[in-house]
Amino acid sequence: FLVAENISVEFNGKPAVQDISLTVERGEVVAIIGPSGSGKSTFLRCINHLQSPTSGTVRIDGVAITEGRDRHPNARDLAQLRRRVGMVFQQFNLFPNLTALENVMLAQIHALGRSKQEAREKALALLDRVGLAERANHRPDECSGGQQQRIAIARTLALDPLVVLFDEPTSALDPELGAEVLTVMRELAEAGMTMIVVTHEMQFAEDVADRLVFISDGRIVEEGKPRDVLRNPQHPRTQRFLHAVL
Ligand code: ATP
Ligand code: MG
Repeated sequence: FLVAENISVEFNGKPAVQDISLTVERGEVVAIIGPSGSGKSTFLRCINHLQSPTSGTVRIDGVAITEGRDRHPNARDLAQLRRRVGMVFQQFNLFPNLTALENVMLAQIHALGRSKQEAREKALALLDRVGLAERANHRPDECSGGQQQRIAIARTLALDPLVVLFDEPTSALDPELGAEVLTVMRELAEAGMTMIVVTHEMQFAEDVADRLVFISDGRIVEEGKPRDVLRNPQHPRTQRFLHAVL
Protein backbone atom coordinates (compact mmCIF):
# COMPACT_ATOMS: atom_id res chain seq x y z
CA PHE A 1 0.00 0.00 0.00
CA LEU A 2 2.79 2.38 0.99
CA VAL A 3 6.20 1.41 -0.33
CA ALA A 4 9.42 3.27 0.44
CA GLU A 5 12.33 1.79 -1.46
CA ASN A 6 16.01 2.41 -0.83
CA ILE A 7 15.51 5.88 0.64
CA SER A 8 18.74 7.78 1.32
CA VAL A 9 19.19 11.37 2.41
CA GLU A 10 22.45 13.30 2.71
CA PHE A 11 22.92 16.71 4.30
CA ASN A 12 26.09 18.38 3.02
CA GLY A 13 27.52 15.02 2.06
CA LYS A 14 26.74 13.49 5.44
CA PRO A 15 24.29 10.58 5.38
CA ALA A 16 21.21 11.03 7.59
CA VAL A 17 19.16 8.19 6.11
CA GLN A 18 20.89 5.26 4.49
CA ASP A 19 19.02 2.92 2.17
CA ILE A 20 15.83 2.47 4.18
CA SER A 21 13.10 0.34 2.64
CA LEU A 22 9.74 -0.03 4.33
CA THR A 23 6.44 -1.45 3.11
CA VAL A 24 3.27 -0.67 5.03
CA GLU A 25 0.01 -2.52 4.42
CA ARG A 26 -3.37 -0.82 4.38
CA GLY A 27 -4.58 -0.51 7.97
CA GLU A 28 -1.19 -1.36 9.41
CA VAL A 29 0.32 0.63 12.29
CA VAL A 30 4.12 0.82 12.22
CA ALA A 31 6.03 2.33 15.14
CA ILE A 32 9.55 3.67 14.61
CA ILE A 33 11.96 3.99 17.53
CA GLY A 34 15.63 4.89 17.72
CA PRO A 35 18.17 7.24 19.26
CA SER A 36 18.17 11.00 18.76
CA GLY A 37 19.69 12.01 15.43
CA SER A 38 19.26 8.55 13.91
CA GLY A 39 17.22 9.84 10.96
CA LYS A 40 13.67 8.98 12.08
CA SER A 41 12.17 12.41 11.32
CA THR A 42 14.14 12.76 8.11
CA PHE A 43 12.84 9.41 6.85
CA LEU A 44 9.26 10.26 7.85
CA ARG A 45 9.48 13.60 6.05
CA CYS A 46 10.57 11.83 2.87
CA ILE A 47 7.29 9.93 2.81
CA ASN A 48 5.26 13.10 2.22
CA HIS A 49 8.12 14.90 0.49
CA LEU A 50 8.64 17.57 3.12
CA GLN A 51 12.17 16.31 2.55
CA SER A 52 13.40 15.25 -0.89
CA PRO A 53 15.39 12.03 -0.65
CA THR A 54 18.81 12.02 -2.29
CA SER A 55 17.79 8.70 -3.81
CA GLY A 56 14.97 6.22 -3.52
CA THR A 57 11.27 5.96 -4.33
CA VAL A 58 8.04 6.31 -2.38
CA ARG A 59 4.84 4.87 -3.81
CA ILE A 60 1.38 5.12 -2.32
CA ASP A 61 -1.43 3.04 -3.75
CA GLY A 62 0.81 2.28 -6.73
CA VAL A 63 1.51 5.94 -7.53
CA ALA A 64 5.16 6.98 -7.43
CA ILE A 65 5.64 10.08 -5.35
CA THR A 66 9.32 10.73 -5.14
CA GLU A 67 12.07 9.36 -7.28
CA GLY A 68 15.19 10.94 -5.97
CA ARG A 69 16.78 14.30 -6.38
CA ASP A 70 16.25 14.74 -10.12
CA ARG A 71 12.60 13.82 -10.24
CA HIS A 72 10.69 16.27 -8.10
CA PRO A 73 6.95 15.80 -8.26
CA ASN A 74 5.10 18.68 -9.88
CA ALA A 75 2.97 21.00 -7.77
CA ARG A 76 -0.25 19.17 -8.53
CA ASP A 77 1.13 15.75 -7.59
CA LEU A 78 2.64 17.26 -4.48
CA ALA A 79 -0.66 18.78 -3.37
CA GLN A 80 -2.36 15.44 -4.00
CA LEU A 81 0.32 13.66 -2.02
CA ARG A 82 0.06 15.96 0.96
CA ARG A 83 -3.66 15.36 0.98
CA ARG A 84 -3.22 11.59 0.95
CA VAL A 85 -0.47 11.59 3.56
CA GLY A 86 -1.35 13.51 6.69
CA MET A 87 1.31 14.48 9.19
CA VAL A 88 1.16 15.33 12.88
CA PHE A 89 4.16 17.07 14.43
CA GLN A 90 5.63 17.26 17.90
CA GLN A 91 4.88 21.01 18.04
CA PHE A 92 1.23 20.92 16.84
CA ASN A 93 1.79 23.74 14.27
CA LEU A 94 -1.70 25.18 14.65
CA PHE A 95 -2.55 28.67 13.41
CA PRO A 96 -2.48 30.72 16.63
CA ASN A 97 -4.95 33.39 15.51
CA LEU A 98 -7.66 30.93 14.41
CA THR A 99 -10.09 28.99 16.59
CA ALA A 100 -9.96 25.21 16.82
CA LEU A 101 -12.90 25.04 14.42
CA GLU A 102 -11.23 27.38 11.91
CA ASN A 103 -7.96 25.45 12.15
CA VAL A 104 -9.79 22.25 11.19
CA MET A 105 -11.85 23.97 8.45
CA LEU A 106 -9.13 25.92 6.67
CA ALA A 107 -7.36 23.32 4.54
CA GLN A 108 -10.65 21.65 3.68
CA ILE A 109 -11.71 24.87 1.96
CA HIS A 110 -8.36 25.77 0.41
CA ALA A 111 -6.94 22.34 -0.47
CA LEU A 112 -10.12 20.38 -1.17
CA GLY A 113 -12.45 23.16 -2.28
CA ARG A 114 -15.16 22.16 0.16
CA SER A 115 -17.87 24.68 0.93
CA LYS A 116 -17.72 26.51 4.24
CA GLN A 117 -20.81 24.70 5.42
CA GLU A 118 -19.40 21.28 4.52
CA ALA A 119 -16.03 22.09 6.11
CA ARG A 120 -17.72 23.29 9.28
CA GLU A 121 -19.82 20.14 9.65
CA LYS A 122 -16.82 17.91 9.07
CA ALA A 123 -14.69 19.93 11.51
CA LEU A 124 -17.35 19.80 14.24
CA ALA A 125 -17.72 16.04 13.80
CA LEU A 126 -13.95 15.54 14.03
CA LEU A 127 -13.55 17.82 17.06
CA ASP A 128 -16.28 15.77 18.70
CA ARG A 129 -14.46 12.57 17.76
CA VAL A 130 -11.27 13.75 19.51
CA GLY A 131 -13.29 14.84 22.54
CA LEU A 132 -13.11 18.59 21.93
CA ALA A 133 -16.59 19.62 20.80
CA GLU A 134 -16.68 22.24 23.55
CA ARG A 135 -13.33 23.79 22.53
CA ALA A 136 -14.43 24.52 18.96
CA ASN A 137 -14.52 28.29 19.41
CA HIS A 138 -11.34 28.63 21.44
CA ARG A 139 -7.94 29.63 20.08
CA PRO A 140 -4.94 27.29 20.58
CA ASP A 141 -3.49 29.43 23.40
CA GLU A 142 -6.71 28.83 25.33
CA CYS A 143 -6.24 25.05 25.05
CA SER A 144 -3.90 22.65 26.85
CA GLY A 145 -1.06 21.04 24.91
CA GLY A 146 -2.96 17.77 24.78
CA GLN A 147 -6.02 19.57 23.42
CA GLN A 148 -3.90 21.39 20.86
CA GLN A 149 -2.43 18.14 19.62
CA ARG A 150 -5.90 16.62 19.33
CA ILE A 151 -7.00 19.66 17.30
CA ALA A 152 -3.98 19.05 15.07
CA ILE A 153 -5.04 15.42 14.63
CA ALA A 154 -8.60 16.51 13.75
CA ARG A 155 -7.16 18.96 11.22
CA THR A 156 -5.14 16.19 9.60
CA LEU A 157 -8.10 13.80 9.48
CA ALA A 158 -10.28 16.49 7.89
CA LEU A 159 -8.45 15.96 4.59
CA ASP A 160 -9.40 12.24 4.54
CA PRO A 161 -5.79 11.01 4.40
CA LEU A 162 -4.93 7.46 3.35
CA VAL A 163 -1.99 7.41 5.76
CA VAL A 164 -1.14 9.51 8.81
CA LEU A 165 2.48 10.09 9.86
CA PHE A 166 3.10 11.03 13.49
CA ASP A 167 6.48 12.47 14.54
CA GLU A 168 6.78 12.18 18.32
CA PRO A 169 3.25 13.56 18.84
CA THR A 170 3.43 13.35 22.64
CA SER A 171 7.04 14.35 23.28
CA ALA A 172 6.15 17.97 24.09
CA LEU A 173 3.42 16.94 26.55
CA ASP A 174 3.17 15.96 30.20
CA PRO A 175 2.38 12.26 30.58
CA GLU A 176 -1.23 12.93 31.50
CA LEU A 177 -1.86 15.15 28.45
CA GLY A 178 0.12 12.76 26.28
CA ALA A 179 -2.20 9.96 27.39
CA GLU A 180 -5.23 11.84 25.99
CA VAL A 181 -3.47 12.05 22.64
CA LEU A 182 -2.42 8.39 22.70
CA THR A 183 -6.04 7.42 23.38
CA VAL A 184 -7.15 9.28 20.26
CA MET A 185 -4.36 7.61 18.27
CA ARG A 186 -5.34 4.21 19.59
CA GLU A 187 -8.96 4.77 18.50
CA LEU A 188 -7.75 5.87 15.09
CA ALA A 189 -5.68 2.68 14.78
CA GLU A 190 -8.66 0.57 15.84
CA ALA A 191 -10.77 2.32 13.20
CA GLY A 192 -8.34 0.95 10.60
CA MET A 193 -6.21 4.00 9.75
CA THR A 194 -2.80 3.28 8.24
CA MET A 195 -0.27 4.95 10.53
CA ILE A 196 3.49 5.39 10.89
CA VAL A 197 4.38 6.64 14.36
CA VAL A 198 7.80 7.81 15.50
CA THR A 199 7.58 7.55 19.27
CA HIS A 200 9.31 7.03 22.58
CA GLU A 201 6.13 5.55 24.05
CA MET A 202 7.15 1.91 24.25
CA GLN A 203 3.91 0.82 25.91
CA PHE A 204 1.89 2.41 23.11
CA ALA A 205 4.16 0.76 20.56
CA GLU A 206 3.69 -2.63 22.17
CA ASP A 207 -0.08 -2.30 22.58
CA VAL A 208 -1.08 -0.58 19.35
CA ALA A 209 1.57 -1.09 16.66
CA ASP A 210 1.49 -4.12 14.38
CA ARG A 211 5.20 -3.75 13.71
CA LEU A 212 8.11 -2.03 15.40
CA VAL A 213 11.11 -0.71 13.47
CA PHE A 214 14.34 0.25 15.22
CA ILE A 215 16.50 2.78 13.36
CA SER A 216 20.06 3.67 14.26
CA ASP A 217 22.57 5.71 12.25
CA GLY A 218 20.10 6.14 9.41
CA ARG A 219 19.48 2.42 8.92
CA ILE A 220 16.84 -0.11 9.94
CA VAL A 221 18.72 -2.31 12.39
CA GLU A 222 15.86 -4.54 13.46
CA GLU A 223 12.11 -4.89 12.97
CA GLY A 224 9.38 -7.27 13.99
CA LYS A 225 6.39 -7.76 16.24
CA PRO A 226 6.65 -5.02 18.88
CA ARG A 227 6.57 -7.47 21.74
CA ASP A 228 9.38 -9.56 20.22
CA VAL A 229 11.63 -6.58 19.49
CA LEU A 230 11.01 -4.96 22.88
CA ARG A 231 11.35 -8.08 24.99
CA ASN A 232 13.83 -10.06 22.99
CA PRO A 233 15.92 -7.75 20.79
CA GLN A 234 18.35 -9.62 18.58
CA HIS A 235 20.82 -6.93 17.58
CA PRO A 236 23.33 -5.59 20.14
CA ARG A 237 22.53 -2.00 19.08
CA THR A 238 18.82 -2.55 19.79
CA GLN A 239 19.66 -4.19 23.10
CA ARG A 240 21.78 -1.22 24.16
CA PHE A 241 19.10 1.31 23.14
CA LEU A 242 16.29 -0.50 24.93
CA HIS A 243 18.44 -1.04 27.98
CA ALA A 244 19.01 2.73 28.12
CA VAL A 245 15.37 3.79 27.64
CA LEU A 246 13.30 1.10 29.38
P1 ATP B 1 15.28 13.03 17.22
O1 ATP B 1 14.93 11.75 17.96
O2 ATP B 1 16.19 13.89 18.04
O3 ATP B 1 14.10 13.74 16.70
P2 ATP B 1 15.80 11.94 14.56
O4 ATP B 1 16.03 10.48 14.61
O5 ATP B 1 14.45 12.39 14.16
O6 ATP B 1 16.21 12.58 15.97
P3 ATP B 1 16.71 13.52 12.33
O7 ATP B 1 16.06 14.77 12.78
O8 ATP B 1 16.10 12.79 11.20
O9 ATP B 1 16.89 12.52 13.57
O10 ATP B 1 18.22 13.87 11.99
C1 ATP B 1 19.12 12.94 11.42
C2 ATP B 1 20.45 13.62 11.16
O11 ATP B 1 20.31 14.58 10.11
C3 ATP B 1 20.99 14.39 12.34
O12 ATP B 1 22.39 14.24 12.36
C4 ATP B 1 20.60 15.82 12.06
O13 ATP B 1 21.49 16.72 12.65
C5 ATP B 1 20.67 15.87 10.55
N1 ATP B 1 19.71 16.82 9.95
C6 ATP B 1 18.36 16.77 10.07
N2 ATP B 1 17.77 17.76 9.36
C7 ATP B 1 18.78 18.47 8.80
C8 ATP B 1 18.82 19.62 7.93
N3 ATP B 1 17.68 20.22 7.51
N4 ATP B 1 20.04 20.08 7.57
C9 ATP B 1 21.17 19.47 7.97
N5 ATP B 1 21.19 18.38 8.76
C10 ATP B 1 20.02 17.88 9.18
MG1 MG C 1 13.01 13.58 15.10
